[in-house]
Amino acid sequence: MENRCCINYNRKHKQDGKGQAKSVYTRKVFLTMAYNVISKPKQNFSLHTHTIGFDGQNTPAAMVAGAQYMCIEHLGISNHFIVHPNITRAKFYPFALERGYSAIYSSGFDEAIAKFKQHYAELNQKKLQDFANDCDVKIYRGMEVDFFDYPEWQSGFERALNMLQPDYVICASHFVEYDSMLCNVHDFANVDDQARDDMLKLYWEKLGRAAETGLFNFMAHLDLPKKTGVGTEEKWAEYEQMAIDKIAKSKTPIEINTSFYNRNRDEPYPSARILKMAAAANIPVIISDDAHRAEHIGRYFDRADGFARACGINNFLTCDMVLRKTR
Ligand SMILES: [Zn+2]
Ligand SMILES: [Zn+2]
Repeated sequence: MENRCCINYNRKHKQDGKGQAKSVYTRKVFLTMAYNVISKPKQNFSLHTHTIGFDGQNTPAAMVAGAQYMCIEHLGISNHFIVHPNITRAKFYPFALERGYSAIYSSGFDEAIAKFKQHYAELNQKKLQDFANDCDVKIYRGMEVDFFDYPEWQSGFERALNMLQPDYVICASHFVEYDSMLCNVHDFANVDDQARDDMLKLYWEKLGRAAETGLFNFMAHLDLPKKTGVGTEEKWAEYEQMAIDKIAKSKTPIEINTSFYNRNRDEPYPSARILKMAAAANIPVIISDDAHRAEHIGRYFDRADGFARACGINNFLTCDMVLRKTR
């Protein structure tokens, strides 16, 4: 019941645009929440999370309280940084608008930089930092960045890095450019077989090129298209291997993203097939929850750890090692 109060409290603030949940209030609510998992997870950090104002459901303060509850000592907030001049013309855009998270998309870098300046200023606020200290949680400023191939993207992104100085950047690919259209992975499921295969090829090739830029601290949810039920057949192993080879060569770590687990799905992103390739190439890994609400923090961490080890992974990074990368 109290958990629900907290969620409603945050929703209200999302609607009227006001900032943080009251820290004492949030803490009290979380300390009374009934979790099933209380044991300390093997990994004590969570660097892939989302908050209000983007497409997350809770405030940073609520996320800190959730991290504390799950014994997560290092919490990175990594909201979406998605910049493309045609983003509002993407087939997917009206859906995002309707669902209320169009703020994660920007048509130009100035717009995205302005949003993140304000967002990072909120993360730096003394009130939030004091609350985090009190909870023994350290907050890091990250971003989940969509890599794009258009000519000005890299220089625009490097300008953003200089201005915003994030603690780390995650590479994601939620879109491909196909037939002059920006297509979200959700669109892959709604086209004919030929178009779907072309989109999947573009997807894997783009991931490889993204890693080659050397700009990112780690790669997110490698086989994201499986979210819509596509790209899991054996024939894609060849393309996955090509991307893995480039990722390994660029020395970019990958995440094991636990958001794919649910009652019917017993694997994270990426699949065992890809994790075995990553193990053979000795690619370092971290575990991410991709939390869009506080109660997602640390979800299935130990299950993912076991899954990865069964695939031969033993190169697990510490939080320091992920953040240490010099750009
Ligand atoms: Zn993502
Ligand atoms: Zn995410």
